[in-house]
Amino acid sequence: MLRAGERFAVIGNPIGHSRSPRIHALFAHGLGQSIDYVARLCPLGDFARDLERFRASGGIGANVTLPFKIDAYACATERSPRAQAAGAANFLHWHDSHWFCDNTDGAGLVRDIENNLGVALRGRSILLLGAGGAARGALLPILEREPAHLCVGNRTHATAQALIAPWREGHAIDALALDGHLSDGERFDIVINATSASLHGDLPLPATSDLFAPTALAYDMMYGREPTPFMRWASARGATRVSDGLGMLVEQAAESYRLWRGVQPETAPVIAQLRSELARG
Ligand code: NDP
Repeated sequence: MLRAGERFAVIGNPIGHSRSPRIHALFAHGLGQSIDYVARLCPLGDFARDLERFRASGGIGANVTLPFKIDAYACATERSPRAQAAGAANFLHWHDSHWFCDNTDGAGLVRDIENNLGVALRGRSILLLGAGGAARGALLPILEREPAHLCVGNRTHATAQALIAPWREGHAIDALALDGHLSDGERFDIVINATSASLHGDLPLPATSDLFAPTALAYDMMYGREPTPFMRWASARGATRVSDGLGMLVEQAAESYRLWRGVQPETAPVIAQLRSELARG
């Protein structure tokens, strides 16, 4: 149900490429609801004031994308544990006269891998490549699934070390420099690319190319019309299954919709619809 005057948006800069308005329109349609959800271009350096303007125009919910996830976190006066763990938010909800923030990216990733791809994280050996915003959002939701071992590999080793430092106690977690070497013969059941290397046509890979355990999944948070360079590289080196991050995008949006509206949209038909729209270009 759309309550009169309630407005939603995805806020970013740039924002023209965002698929979030389409995804939320498809969710609402599937649920027999309506939603007023638009893409909102925010001037750089002006997030807090733009959020106030959005609020004044009836805005009660926002997804937040690059480069404003840290600003969104700062603007909220109530923060979920997931947002606190990430130090960044992609979700805002105005209620009880204040902004509540959350980070739904990691939940979206875990749901896509476990529910859509059918690969449980519990007891698995996982390599997470990248230590930027997306990796920070994924860390707590991954650890909550109790993997046997989580290794965070990053080009800048110090960033990976800083990321894992608060989680060392009670978790089998360590950090790896991408030019470093894996410990003796370690192979991973799940390798997740959370770097932006593909954007520059690079491959974010550790020195060893022998990464994959039998039946391994290689997952790239990036998505596109074609398999990403990381997906192609992984297939050629023994990953049994590869996936891009389109399902994660839809699942993080579904988690947002659920938090705003109290109802879980169906994601499978939306992922299929977006996949066919991507293929058409
Ligand atoms: P950030 O800019 O915060 O982090 C970038 C990361 O990539 C850093 O760890 C950086 O390493 C690493 N990196 C960049 N270039 C290279 C390279 N050439 N070789 C190796 N490592 C490199 O980006 P985000 O974390 O926000 O986003 C990462 C990716 O995840 C993007 O592709 C984004 O599109 C995707 N994403 C997908 C989502 C989805 O729903 N599917 C949601 C959120 C993000 P260093 O620390 O050394 O600089």
